Amino acid sequence: MPPAPPEKHRANPTGNDEFLLTPGPLTTSLSVKQAMLRDWGSRDAGFIALNRRIRDRLVEIAEGGGDYTCVPLQGSGTFVVEAMLGTLVPPTGRLLVLVNGAYGARMVKIMHTIGRDVVSLTSPEDRIPDLVALDRRLAAEPGISHVAAVHCETTSGILNPIEAIAAVVAHHGRSLLIDSMSAFGALPLDIGELGADAVAASANKCLEGVPGLGFAIVRRAALEAAAGNAHSLSLDLYDQWRAMESNGQWRFTPPTHVLAAFEQALIEHGAEGGVAGRHRRYTENCAILIDGMRKLGFETLLPDELQAPIIVTFKMPADPAFDFQMFYDRLAARGYVIYPGKLTVAPSFRIGCIGRLDPDDIRVAVAAIAETLRDMNVNECGAADAA
Ligand SMILES: *Cc1c(COP(=O)(O)O)cnc(C)c1O
Repeated sequence: MPPAPPEKHRANPTGNDEFLLTPGPLTTSLSVKQAMLRDWGSRDAGFIALNRRIRDRLVEIAEGGGDYTCVPLQGSGTFVVEAMLGTLVPPTGRLLVLVNGAYGARMVKIMHTIGRDVVSLTSPEDRIPDLVALDRRLAAEPGISHVAAVHCETTSGILNPIEAIAAVVAHHGRSLLIDSMSAFGALPLDIGELGADAVAASANKCLEGVPGLGFAIVRRAALEAAAGNAHSLSLDLYDQWRAMESNGQWRFTPPTHVLAAFEQALIEHGAEGGVAGRHRRYTENCAILIDGMRKLGFETLLPDELQAPIIVTFKMPADPAFDFQMFYDRLAARGYVIYPGKLTVAPSFRIGCIGRLDPDDIRVAVAAIAETLRDMNVNECGAADAA
């Protein structure tokens, strides 16, 4: 029989039955969901203006200024990553991908799939990329035209040192493309200062919109040089940009409701203090989560100095009474949905601290975890490899 919800189970103000402690799609505010209660005509002047405001605001969040533009794209985050790589790395180019998790590996797979030249520099999932090796590699291989890096590698939750990576890439005069999917809007990023040609992200992570939309912030000069590069019609960011600039409209059916919700999400992001405000709340959420879980005996994969305040990987407890599926189901019955692990190296699970969650939500989530462990008679949450 499923356990009864604990008495202190919070009324969820977001209109959901459950809190999503995941990396996205995640818990959105009620007002973001309510913004979808209107059917927009895609050629309507009001919708065209809304689309324009969203694009301008996203360039501002990236500190892009006049050298950059925002190209939105239908689909999940992977669609825009694939569009960014296929549009900006020409068929004659070669991409070096810094891989320390599944999302870096996915960029390599995209390049193989679309038949473009790719090499990788791989580090363990709990380590940042080796910048000395990157420096050497770029010096030795002039054929590498572009470097791709993941800002926060959601696989582990590690914060990759994007400024230091950008400095090495700039030193060698190569073009930098960033997957900032799970960081954009919450971790500071100044695209102009990084000198990156493009940053890709989506509506449904730290910006707290609903899923269905990705976007790239791209240097105008890089886009202008990218005509005819794309491997695909629908994933051609150059064509998408040209069309949108010419009449303000999307080439193909836009996700109108998603965009309406996204504008509301961006208004709420601004009201919270933009990137700095969101960073503050997520940092507090993350600290409360890690502290509470450590008190219960859990171990994090990462040392605190490598941890981004986005999603935390916990090692699977060695206690035989700990069955992950049972833990997951019972916690979900209490109103908290967590996330399985994605590491290749060690059994683990993940808990996100992003979305419309505040420190009190995290405190109650940790209390629900403690109760779930008691239900399951788990007494020891240390990992198998603990010293
Ligand atoms: C979520 C995410 C993506 C995109 O994933 P989708 O499931 O396609 O939305 C890409 N990169 C990173 C780092 C992510 O966290």
